[in-house]
Amino acid sequence: MGEHLLPCPFCGHDAEWNKGQHGDGSDWHYIACTECEAMGGNSADQSREGSIAAWNLRVPPVEPCEVTDAMVAEGLKNYSEGGCMGLDEDERREVVRNILEAAIAKAEGSSK
Ligand SMILES: [Zn+2]
Repeated sequence: MGEHLLPCPFCGHDAEWNKGQHGDGSDWHYIACTECEAMGGNSADQSREGSIAAWNLRVPPVEPCEVTDAMVAEGLKNYSEGGCMGLDEDERREVVRNILEAAIAKAEGSSK
């Protein structure tokens, strides 16, 4: 006992280790939420440790990409440098692409 189980990824309540039996009598380890009945932790080796490791395996949260003032400023800068007046559609498309790429580059740079 004693291995730490992360809380349920769906509702955040505690989870607990359980053991059942397969039809052939072999043990079946799994983790279940004590609140919402979410179940998981199936592991290839069918071990208690494997089920706990599988339950605790989480994908890191994706950082939301928000439009910041810096991104807007960068876009404005590119927009005026591009001088959209008198451009044909392909050229305007290119200006917008540059604005978006600059904004994304800025966002990626600021989140590190
Ligand atoms: Zn839950």
